[in-house]
Formats: sequence, structure tokens, C-alpha cells
Amino acid sequence: MLPTPGVELLENVCDVEVNLGEAPPTRDLLIRKALDVDGILCLITDRIDAELLSSASNLKVVSSMSVGYDHIDVETATQRGIYVTYTPGVLTEATADFTWALLMAVCRRVVEADSFLRAGKWRIQWSPMQFLGVDLSGKTLGIIGLGRIGEAIAQRARGFNMKILYFSRTRVEEEKEKRLNIEYVSLERLLSESDFVTIHVPLSKETKYLINEERLKKMKPTAYLINTSRGAVVDQHALTKALREERIAGAGLDVFEKEPIDPHDPLTSLNNVVMAPHIASATKEARSMMAEVAAKNLLSVLRGEQPRFLINPQVSSIRPLSEVRMIM
Ligand code: NAP
Repeated sequence: MLPTPGVELLENVCDVEVNLGEAPPTRDLLIRKALDVDGILCLITDRIDAELLSSASNLKVVSSMSVGYDHIDVETATQRGIYVTYTPGVLTEATADFTWALLMAVCRRVVEADSFLRAGKWRIQWSPMQFLGVDLSGKTLGIIGLGRIGEAIAQRARGFNMKILYFSRTRVEEEKEKRLNIEYVSLERLLSESDFVTIHVPLSKETKYLINEERLKKMKPTAYLINTSRGAVVDQHALTKALREERIAGAGLDVFEKEPIDPHDPLTSLNNVVMAPHIASATKEARSMMAEVAAKNLLSVLRGEQPRFLINPQVSSIRPLSEVRMIM
């Protein structure tokens, strides 16, 4: 099921088959259904790899309802003349909001306090030492990956009166640094000086395990790590160890190396971590816009028009859009 108006837009002009279940299609079913179709509107739970792409001989466009595209083999798609599109921007604010929700939940112990109250343990009305967290004001926030979401995080941090450091592949223009009041530093310096570290890079060969055991050791014992990007950007085993040994103060995680996480995973027994089931973009507004943009991207390609958000522009030299055009 997709939020409206994604499927409706497609049904106006195409024959559409929708996976109606809550769960993603099995691998076999996905490959079988892809065999004859001209376009696929997929989610991050659908692995669009070389095997699928090479068996789908009619396929012209893969439109993902997401901004991350590590589930798609873009290189193979490009070689096969398949357009790959995504939905950047429309989920930026929702994801940034949720990143702050996780950050505040872990550093003010919201989930622990809620469980305490529900378990009937609240017996003393107010106690000076109960559930002490930490202040945000005056602290240092380190942003790894200053793209759309990283920037939206920085905008919000100003309201909390925080010092903001950032590390990213490309240093942003001076004007933006001044406007956001952010300082560009090395990753090592960011890790050693920040009280809160938040990750907003895509998952790629370069960013897999960007935060590993050695880098976790650079963080302050009082610092918190927040990850709403992709699970494998952090070495989860090393993070669990750092949290268990209290070498960092806590973590807020929306994403994991394996999703869903095993309910018996050692992370789930730790009190200094707040976890969510990959819901950072889950607002009615964002999800509806994501479905709409994904449907429109797909239709643009099948109309032979430039889609709004194309990941692989090089594809047009292999299969020009004029050769794709099949609907009005
Ligand atoms: P974006 O605008 O492309 O920003 C990504 C930033 O990371 C860019 O500034 C990019 O630098 C930087 N970067 C890329 N590779 C890097 C590297 N090797 N080292 C350091 N920095 C690097 O993307 P976005 O819209 O902010 O989204 C970021 C990611 O968040 C997505 O890819 C997705 O995986 C994740 N996400 C998760 C959820 C969720 O539900 N949990 C929701 C939305 C997004 P350049 O400027 O050089 O490209």
C-alpha cells in the first residue's frame, strides 16, 4: 500500500499491479513481476540488483520512493539504459525533526522515564537526582554530511543555542557557513569535540563503517551518537560495545545494519540507547509527497520527458528519452 496520490496518478495512464501487503514482495515474486514491466516504483525494501535488472528486458525506469538509493545497482541500470529516480527534498524536514526527537529522547531519558512511570515505579513526587539528563544549550553539535538533511539539522540547532561543527565530502560555500553559523572541521576533530554527533551521509562504498571502533574511541565519554542515515554507516557491533562499556553516553538510532533488528540483539538490552524502526520520514505529509513525486518521476520517463529527480543522467546517452516515450 502507498499513500495517496501515488498509485492513483499511475492508474490514470498505465496498467498497474500493486503489492497490497504490508510486507515487501519476496525476492522471487519481485523478479518474476519485473520480467515484463516498463517501470517499477520501488521502496528501500526492494533490492533492485544486477540479477533483477538483467532479467527485466522491458524495464525503462526504476523510481524509488526514497532519497537513499543504496538498494539499487545504479551502475548496472545505467549500462542497461534504465532511468533511476528518487524523491529528495520532500522528506528533509520530517527526517530532521525526527533526528531531533531521537537526540532529545536519549539525552533527556524520555523513554526510560515513560517506562518507569508505566511500571508503577513513580512513588516520590519530585526528586533532585531523578532521571538527570544533559543540557543542549551551549553544547557542541557535530553534523556528518551537510546535505539537505544536515542543513535542516543545523537550522534547528541554532534555536537551541548550540555551537555547530560539520564534516562533509564537499565544504559548502562561505555564505552558507556564515548563515548557518557552522564551522568546517576534520572528521577526527568533529568526533573529539562534539557533545552530540549526528550522521546524514548516504550509504556508499566510501561511507560503509565510516563510524568504526577507532572513531568511536575519539568521541567524548559524555557524547551522544544519533544515526538516521543508514545502519551500515556505523559498525553496529563496535557501537554496542562502546555503549555497553559507557565509552559514550548514549545513542539514538532509527537505522540498523540488519532491519528489522533481531529483538534479542544486544542493543535492545541497553538503557542508554533510544531506537526506532526506520521511521524518520514517517509523517503523513512527507510520505504522501514521496509517493506523489515517485509516481510523477516514473510517468515523466515513460512520457519521454526529463524526470524531476534523476539519479543517473548519463543514462540518456545510452537510451535517449525520445526512445523511451510510450505514453501521452
Ligand atoms: P544529500 O542532500 O545528498 O546529503 C548527503 C551529504 O553527505 C552531502 O553533503 C554529501 O556530500 C555528503 N557525503 C556523501 N558522501 C560522503 C562521504 N563519503 N563523506 C562525507 N560526506 C559525504 O542527502 P539527504 O537528502 O540529506 O539524505 C541523506 C541520507 O539520509 C540519505 O542518503 C538516506 O540514506 C538517509 N535518509 C534516511 C531516512 C530515514 O528514514 N531514516 C530518511 C531520509 C534520508 P556532497 O555534497 O559532496 O555530495
